[in-house]
Amino acid sequence: MKNLFRMIIGLLIVISGNLFAQTIPVDTVRTWMFDLAGDHMRGRANGSVEMRQAADYIAARFLSAGLRPVPGSYSFFHPFRFTARDDGRLIHEQNVIGYLEGADPQLKDECIVICAHYDHIGIGQAVEGDSIYNGADDNISGTCGVMGIAQALSVENKRPARSVLFISWAGEEMGLQGSRYYVKHPIWSLENTALVINFELLGRPESIGRNRYYLTGASFSTLADSLSAFNANRSWQMDNSVVDVDRLMFVSDNAAFAAAYRKDREFWGVVAHTFAMEAGGDHVHRPHDGPELIDLENLAHFIDYMTDLLMHFSAQDRAPQWTDARFHPVSSYKE
Ligand SMILES: [Zn+2]
Repeated sequence: MKNLFRMIIGLLIVISGNLFAQTIPVDTVRTWMFDLAGDHMRGRANGSVEMRQAADYIAARFLSAGLRPVPGSYSFFHPFRFTARDDGRLIHEQNVIGYLEGADPQLKDECIVICAHYDHIGIGQAVEGDSIYNGADDNISGTCGVMGIAQALSVENKRPARSVLFISWAGEEMGLQGSRYYVKHPIWSLENTALVINFELLGRPESIGRNRYYLTGASFSTLADSLSAFNANRSWQMDNSVVDVDRLMFVSDNAAFAAAYRKDREFWGVVAHTFAMEAGGDHVHRPHDGPELIDLENLAHFIDYMTDLLMHFSAQDRAPQWTDARFHPVSSYKE
């Protein structure tokens, strides 16, 4: 009887631990969300002083999570410049890149990129008196994902087998400028980049439902099948039926990696996809994409799920492969 009692108590502890434990508290995610997407950040337009503030903020979180600059770099900041398509202005921006060395002596020569853009579109035409396009869902939600996984690994004292680059992109809203610059000037060879996991729009799951996400370009590589297998006994599920996931392959920073080189309609690149939850809301690129509407609890749970997923995928011998005939590994590209 006593043993049975102990067993039940033990089981209850395990179950409640799984249901309620969050490595990154919701309050922490809330703080990040309001610090980076509040009205004082004026919508983080590329080239603005608020983008500098956001980059500093992200770098400080990377540092406190124990990340380092990539060997050979002096800081977390990777500057680039580009010409605005609309008015021809020269814009100076920077990606923020943190590095965690892999734990496996062989696999650590390969890296996995965990990334999201942190820019948005700034001040725009007022809608119902509000002219600040906060870009909370687009894309401080994804930025919280990147910072949260780094922080969760640190709190749990876990180190993935492969090395990890945590990257916050600038310039996404003006044509994937930060990720395209990186792919032309990679600081970790693309041949040794095993997988790119990009985040967009993780904060408003009301259409897709909580504990769900979709994967852009799901039918182009083996990643979706691997995710289905990984999810078999988990509360998180992938649902690729909610939007046209294959068309969305090319609308965010993963595309720069997937199509590092192209000839006509063929692509050579790294297996790179975006995880997202937005499926039919009307808030994207509107002033009411504010921090107060983000489902912080769901986001905190997602960070835990993705941290487990990263640990799992980073240790697999074989990285995900392209399956669609138009896509090829970057190593097979010839001029
Ligand atoms: Zn976005």
